[in-house]
Amino acid sequence: MTTISRPVISSEAMVLRVWPTGETSVIASLLTEETGFVKVIAKGARNSKSNLRSLVQPGTIVDIEYTVVEGRDLQYLRGGSASPGASKASLTLDKTAYLLAIVEIIDRCKPTGKDADLFHLCRRFMEVLSSLPSSVNASAYYRFLLELLNMQGLAPTLNRCSNCRSEILNDRAVVHFFSYSSGGIVCADCLDTGKAGRELTPPVYSNLRKLLEQGIDTGPPVARQVDRETGIVLHRFLEYHLPDYRLPTALDMLKVCKTNKES
Ligand SMILES: [Zn+2]
Repeated sequence: MTTISRPVISSEAMVLRVWPTGETSVIASLLTEETGFVKVIAKGARNSKSNLRSLVQPGTIVDIEYTVVEGRDLQYLRGGSASPGASKASLTLDKTAYLLAIVEIIDRCKPTGKDADLFHLCRRFMEVLSSLPSSVNASAYYRFLLELLNMQGLAPTLNRCSNCRSEILNDRAVVHFFSYSSGGIVCADCLDTGKAGRELTPPVYSNLRKLLEQGIDTGPPVARQVDRETGIVLHRFLEYHLPDYRLPTALDMLKVCKTNKES
């Protein structure tokens, strides 16, 4: 009998989605630092005693070993360990909702670009979430979305008209028009109301600029209404530009958080 040895790789990975297969196994989709998007089968991982069990929890960063057989859609998860401090178990419910939301977006959209950069962005997002006070507003999540768009070359143009490139001032008295199809703000001269977009009040415009300029590291909280409006604009923009994107179902958890806080 010949033993076929399969090449094995070690890598850090973010667990994106997990679903059961067979009696006790699971399939997991992963974003790995070394080889990008990978699907693995974790044999017996639903057994309570399996040491693979802790490696297939969505929203967890793990250090794993897996086979890399070319031409195979499904690789084998061999073993590994959860990265210290990188578990969603230590996060509050609202932070968990944002983490699972980004995991959902990445799994569904499989954004193009350098996968290692995408993985590093996920890890950074997790660190930011862990370092924030227990209850967060959505800014950290929006910063992640903007960084994600940036990596795709799709960051919205905010300081210039996305049509004629004239400068857009951060004026506290002006309502700006954000055009999804043009890729950002359009000036009054280029305004075409037939285009899909949304008017931004000065605080929302200013907030978006701040979020984009400051990157993923978090800043001070903003008013709830501004936060909400910012979220709507980003959501519509992603719908327009990122194939397969839709509002992450994980955000439904926030409604539960909110109800609990208010009752
Ligand atoms: Zn213009």
